[in-house]
Amino acid sequence: MDESTRGGGQSEALRNYTLGKRLGIGTFGKVKIAQHKLTGHKVAIKIINCHQMRKMEMEEKAKRELKILKLFIHPHIIRLYEVIYTPTDIYVVMEYCKYGELFDYIVEKGRLQEAEARRIFQQIISGVEYCHRNMVVHRDLKPENLLLDSKFNVKLADFGLSNIMHDGHF
Ligand code: ATP
Ligand code: MG
Repeated sequence: MDESTRGGGQSEALRNYTLGKRLGIGTFGKVKIAQHKLTGHKVAIKIINCHQMRKMEMEEKAKRELKILKLFIHPHIIRLYEVIYTPTDIYVVMEYCKYGELFDYIVEKGRLQEAEARRIFQQIISGVEYCHRNMVVHRDLKPENLLLDSKFNVKLADFGLSNIMHDGHF
């Protein structure tokens, strides 16, 4: 049995979803694919263990990511659908990006055609522009943090190091 399913806490908190395979591991937990039982909509769920997070003093990082993503709605920024809190874990339900990291896509292809690179770059700029217009700086933009959805559209992800800026300050 998975350590996080012990005691049925997880299955109760995630009763609306069918959990699938693991997509990756982050600093404070795993990311799994899941499907909404009623609508069949596929999502990615980041499972953050509160104990682990406190031990690593990552509370601020996680809170920052959630605070910012909760407010953002943009075609090139990962959508946060809901956050489920339990005494032991936080489940972050977000948009699923079928083709994973832009990093792996570039490595696999070796080199992108100019037209595709241009399209991807424009989408990144569009997402970044939205962040800046809302006074948020990402501070960790790199191909590992840019995810690709089922249509190869770019989504800015991982706002864990982001911050809110103020006019006139660096
Ligand atoms: P950190 O927690 O330090 O930011 P990280 O960026 O590696 O580390 P996560 O953002 O938690 O960790 O994600 C881990 C991996 O899971 C990512 O590298 C990515 O491949 C995958 N992943 C995360 N979110 C999604 C998503 N919405 N759709 C598809 N895959 C995802
Ligand atoms: Mg990351």
